[in-house]
Amino acid sequence: MSLNPANISRDYRVKPESLPDDEYRLRRLIFMQHSNPECMLYGDDGELSCNSCDIDFMRDTPKEIEDRIYELNMLKMIKQHEANNDN
Ligand SMILES: [Zn+2]
Repeated sequence: MSLNPANISRDYRVKPESLPDDEYRLRRLIFMQHSNPECMLYGDDGELSCNSCDIDFMRDTPKEIEDRIYELNMLKMIKQHEANNDN
């Protein structure tokens, strides 16, 4: 499956109050743990998203969030590896 953001169709009708309390609480915990210096977190009005990493912690499926975080970590590792080899 491609992780191209254009292929992710989010349902923006999903609102924080429409999620079961425990699901929203878990999604918010994951959101709060997610931060890199370059992240642009948006948490107003109960929204939970990182516009830099293109993760919508409210609407993406757990698998989509997991895959995207894995992809971002792999990209970070590749960048570090390339930087180390340049020296
Ligand atoms: Zn981020």
